[in-house]
This record gives sequence, structure tokens and C-alpha cells, in this order.
Amino acid sequence: HAKSSARNSYRWFEGSMLDETNDKLEMASALRHALTRRELSVVYQPQVCLLEGHVIGVEALARWRTADGHSISPDRFIPAAEDNGLIIQLGEWVLRRACEDVVEMSAKAGVPLRLAVNVSPRQFQDRGWLDVVRRALADSGLPPEQLELEITEGIFMEDPREVVDVMDTVRSLGVGIVVDDFGTGFSSLAYLSRFTIDKLKIDRSFVADLAAGGTDAAIVDTIILMAHALGMTVVAEGVETLAQQEYLQARSCDVGQGFRYSAALPPEELIEHIGGSEASWRASDDL
Ligand code: C2E
Ligand code: MG
Ligand code: MG
Ligand code: MG
Repeated sequence: HAKSSARNSYRWFEGSMLDETNDKLEMASALRHALTRRELSVVYQPQVCLLEGHVIGVEALARWRTADGHSISPDRFIPAAEDNGLIIQLGEWVLRRACEDVVEMSAKAGVPLRLAVNVSPRQFQDRGWLDVVRRALADSGLPPEQLELEITEGIFMEDPREVVDVMDTVRSLGVGIVVDDFGTGFSSLAYLSRFTIDKLKIDRSFVADLAAGGTDAAIVDTIILMAHALGMTVVAEGVETLAQQEYLQARSCDVGQGFRYSAALPPEELIEHIGGSEASWRASDDL
């Protein structure tokens, strides 16, 4: 009895491992093709100044639509690309494209838009990466002051000296550092004083039920106070409702990003959106 169930569970285990390996191999080859076949694109989600109501910048978000018309979520393909190493090429492609697009969007909008780009730990640790950033800036002509790189707390669990070096170099270029999904990692807060960080981005899970006044609200309050005490700017992600916006405004959160303002859009649509929406947010929300 025990024997047969052991054998069954062994088979099951082996089977699922094989599936997983196949999945990964398929994903890797599909991603490799995507990179060469123009299946990837970058869309831009506006970030709004909560004091004045205007768009101050955008976050670049990668999109993958396969040749047969399926969209694959970044929550699937980014971890896969991190896993198989393709994030290095994918990340470079996104950065270059985004810098070019934002130069063009800024010109069309008539204001210098800030650009936030997500960077995976694996890119951050890659030897060639700083040069990738330098070249993307030089080739696009984007002023470094307009670029900020979003990293996650996981990076602070790597070798601190190397991380400090890369961050110092990034900042010496004039590029900003943002901690994304703040509050969801497992690292200690010590890194906040050890590294020079410009912005904290409150994870959208804390913003989700803000108006309910539960413990998440206390966390949001605390993050805003702490960030300001340390001289950092605070961005709230996942702002969907007026109630959330008002809560954040009452606590002097600097910037909001979320479906309340806009989903991520292709460049042309984003320009239209900026042109038309500022006045309406102000009028309807007293922003
Ligand atoms: P993230 O950097 O935290 O990006 C914010 C995510 O929240 C985006 O999902 C965005 O579409 C979504 N979002 C924005 N506003 C709202 C809202 O009001 N409500 C809700 N529920 N969601 C909102 P997306 O585009 O699916 O990206 C998911 C994650 O994939 C990103 O999270 C980021 O970690 C990663 N990612 C996307 N593009 C890149 C990239 O080019 N490089 C790297 N390394 N990671 C990327
Ligand atoms: Mg991000
Ligand atoms: Mg985030
Ligand atoms: Mg997030």
C-alpha cells in the first residue's frame, strides 16, 4: 500500500517537473522570438502630482502580444525572462525604446516628462548594465534627470558593496533611484539610510482598501511620514478611486499612479490623454 502510493506521488512529482521544464523551455524560445519579431511593445502609465493635478511623468511597462494575437501578462513573462536570463536583452530593449518614446512625448506635450523604468535585480547585477543605461541616454538624448530606475527591495539582499557601487554610479549620472512595491519585500529598513534613494513607491496592495481605515491605512500613513522624514518623494501606486486619492492628498503623498488617472497607454494615446485630461481631473476633483 505504502509502496504504491509512494510510487504514485513520485510519478506525479516527476511529471509536474517535466511539465515545468517544458513550459520554461517553450517560454524561453517564444520570448527569444518575441524580441526579434516585434511582438513586444512598451506602454506608459501617467504619474500625477497630487498637489496640482498634472502629469509629471510616466512609468514604462512592457507588453507582449504574440503573433497569433494572445497577450501574455508581464507577471508571467518578466519572471520567466528573469529565470532564463533573457531579461538582460528584454530590459535593454525596453529602456532604449522608452527613452526614445519619452523624448518624443515630451516634445509633443511641451513639458519634460519623467520616465520610470523597471529594473530586475539580475539586470542591476549585470556587468554591462551601467553602459546600457549610459548608451540609452546618449543615443536618445533623454536628459538623465528625467530618468528614474525602479528597483525592488530584493536587491538589498545582494552583496551590499556591489549594490552601493552600482547605485552611486547611477546617481552620479543624474538618474534617480526608486524603490518599487515598497513594503512587500523582506529586507530590513536599514538600507533606506545606507543607500541614496530618491523615491518610495507604496505598493498597491496597501492603497487598495485605504478608505476603509484599516491597518493598511496605518501602513500608508507611516510610509509617507518616514519617506518625507528621510527626504524622499512618495508615489502611491494603484490609485483607483477618489476616496483613495483624497486620503493620500490629506497626508501629503506627492504622486499618484493608477487606473483613476489612466491605464498604461501607447505613446500616441498618452499624448492625447495628457492634452485632454488635466483640466477634467481638476474640475471634477478639485485637484
Ligand atoms: P509594477 O512595476 O509594480 O507596475 C505596476 C503594475 O500595476 C502594472 O502592471 C500596472 O498596469 C498595474 N496597475 C497600474 N495602476 C493600477 C490600478 O489602479 N489598479 C491595479 N489593480 N493595477 C494597476 P503590469 O503592467 O501588468 O506589470 C506588472 C509588473 O511586471 C510590474 O509591476 C513590474 O514589476 C513588471 N514589469 C512590467 N514591465 C517591466 C519591464 O520592462 N521590466 C521589468 N523588469 N519588469 C517589468
Ligand atoms: Mg514599477
Ligand atoms: Mg510597483
Ligand atoms: Mg506592484
